[in-house]
Amino acid sequence: MDPKQRVEEITALLEKYNYEYYVLDNPTVSDFEYDRLMQELIMLENEYPELRSPLSPTQRVGGMVQDKFKEITHQRMMLSLANAFNEDDLRDFDRKVREVIKTDVVTYCAELKIDGLGMSLVYNKTLKYAATRGDGTTGEDVTSNVITIKSIPSRINLEGDFEIRGEVYMPKKSLERLNKEREESGEQLFANARNAAAGSVRQLDSSVAASRGLEAFWYYFVNAKDFNIRYHSEALRKADELGFRTNPERRICHGIDEVLNYIDEYTQKRASLDYDIDGIVIKVDDMSLYDKLGYTAKTPRWAIAYKFPPEEAITKLKDIIFTVGRTGKITPNAVLEPVRVAGSTVQRATLHNEDFITEKGLMIGDYVILRKAGDVIPEVVRPIVEKRDGSETPFEMITTCPECGTPLVRKDAMHFCINPHCPAKQIEGIIHFASKDAMDIEGMGEKVVEQFFNQGFFSNVVELYSLMEHRDDIIALDGWQAKSIDNLILSIENSKLNSLERLLFGLGIKEVGAKMAKTLARKYMDLDALMNVSEEELLEIQDVGPVLAKSLTEWFADEHNRQLIEGLREKGLNFKYLGSTVKAANSYFSGKTVVLTGTLDSMGRKEATEILENLGAKVTGSVSKATDVVIAGHDAGSKLDKAQSLGITVLDETEFKELIK
Ligand code: NAD
Repeated sequence: MDPKQRVEEITALLEKYNYEYYVLDNPTVSDFEYDRLMQELIMLENEYPELRSPLSPTQRVGGMVQDKFKEITHQRMMLSLANAFNEDDLRDFDRKVREVIKTDVVTYCAELKIDGLGMSLVYNKTLKYAATRGDGTTGEDVTSNVITIKSIPSRINLEGDFEIRGEVYMPKKSLERLNKEREESGEQLFANARNAAAGSVRQLDSSVAASRGLEAFWYYFVNAKDFNIRYHSEALRKADELGFRTNPERRICHGIDEVLNYIDEYTQKRASLDYDIDGIVIKVDDMSLYDKLGYTAKTPRWAIAYKFPPEEAITKLKDIIFTVGRTGKITPNAVLEPVRVAGSTVQRATLHNEDFITEKGLMIGDYVILRKAGDVIPEVVRPIVEKRDGSETPFEMITTCPECGTPLVRKDAMHFCINPHCPAKQIEGIIHFASKDAMDIEGMGEKVVEQFFNQGFFSNVVELYSLMEHRDDIIALDGWQAKSIDNLILSIENSKLNSLERLLFGLGIKEVGAKMAKTLARKYMDLDALMNVSEEELLEIQDVGPVLAKSLTEWFADEHNRQLIEGLREKGLNFKYLGSTVKAANSYFSGKTVVLTGTLDSMGRKEATEILENLGAKVTGSVSKATDVVIAGHDAGSKLDKAQSLGITVLDETEFKELIK
């Protein structure tokens, strides 16, 4: 494949995975698969440097900030860590460090890599705030949730500004308890400890976070230098003294061989710890060398994270069953003899599609290798052909829908049920419509949708808004009380006021994810306007490709879908974008490529970006000849110098505010 095309393909995938992982707390691929793609991209960019964009996932911290939280601009960037996957990578890291600091043996601090959510705490005697890493520059203010973790001090005995970073995590026991409760109440289980911790910290209701049994370890005293502390290990001791929980398993290692021993030791001990770890972090202990060793845009050069290889287990493939998704996509799933791998019991795994199964040559009754890369998404790697005894049966793809019997249609590698009235599709469609990132109807989870659908209380999303008519029937059902159904009806009513992007995402149009729904809502402001745009017009929007343009126009042209929209209109749903009322037309910024640098006093970087994008600008991360305008806040650095040397228009904050008034 053409390298440019491959770079674009991997970038799009990694961006999608980042969104699922950091925003939805719901990854769809294993960390192993994610890391594999990232390594491939790094290698391609090294080989073809001209293909490396400053916006590439290799150059940026992957997280994002959700609108529901107040933003916090970090005083110092919160970076990620470079990865090592084997001894060679670690020796390579050590060699580079030795070359820069000109020494034979480096003193490292080796620590466990806690699998949770990175967090920054800022104090001035009392806790000022707790913020997530976000995109590295801006994080989310989650103070009210984090302070529910009892081991975190609310005040410290230290004068002056103090910042400490660490990991909020969910102990194995808490995760087990929580998932058990969720299973009993029919809620979706958390995929792993990391997702559970991230989902709990990013709750709007702090009593929920408080009930989740979270804990934290603190591993980086950011401004230790201000307190005349030179060594990282010394800084951690100081953090201990101040009342922060640091991880006791850390160890000073002289040279990389001692680090390798430490890694071996904790690869063994890992399963017996009370919390999940996904690797080992190695840091140069002498912090006075950090500036000399330097930083990339995304990672410090004085530390590296060794990632444990994925864990594998052998089990029996008892059967292959089929499920029908919201779009009618048929997914084959492996039914496995329950087996413990990487800390949890697995009995189901997706087999994606027919080709996946035939390429692997899987037969029902086979023993298979199952892999989990430290998280809960299990992957069937291959059958163990040597273990076959002749009792295995070949796999056959079904030809009709398992739910409604309609003949399936194959498109690329996938099979679809094309019956618009297929009950499985309708149920999935309603679940999606009510979900958190779509209409956010609290209480309308998977089990409830299934139950009400099967009782005949609704068969599509329009009828969902008439649930009130079935209030008495629902109260008569087991497990429902007047109060719970009234709350649910209230959530349904409230969802009518949602901004357009939620409705648009909820409609479940193929290719229209949450981010794209927002782009479209912002651009067209009104569902009626969007319904009538042509494919050509859509293609003029950045990020809209031919597949999406076709999918969207076809969806709106379909009579059945038009009726659905009219039904929702009659129920009184809002069809307008409420996010911003600013219009792009005739704005100074319309069509311009803009770079933000330095700190603005009146707004965060994200807010400024949003305003600019609403005004039709494209906001990018680095200054080049293609840049039209640079907006420079105070403490602007090299980007401002570069803009001046290229003769690009530079606006200060007052000028910027004048132009966006
Ligand atoms: P990372 O997980 O590779 O390492 C950096 C993070 O480690 C730090 O930000 C910090 O929060 C944490 N950490 C834990 N213990 C630490 C310690 N003792 N000292 C310092 N830091 C410590 O990098 P990342 O940028 O947070 O996340 C990228 C990784 O997340 C990927 O490599 C992948 O494994 C996973 N990911 C997976 C998906 C997916 O879809 N499965 C998507 C995005 C990211």
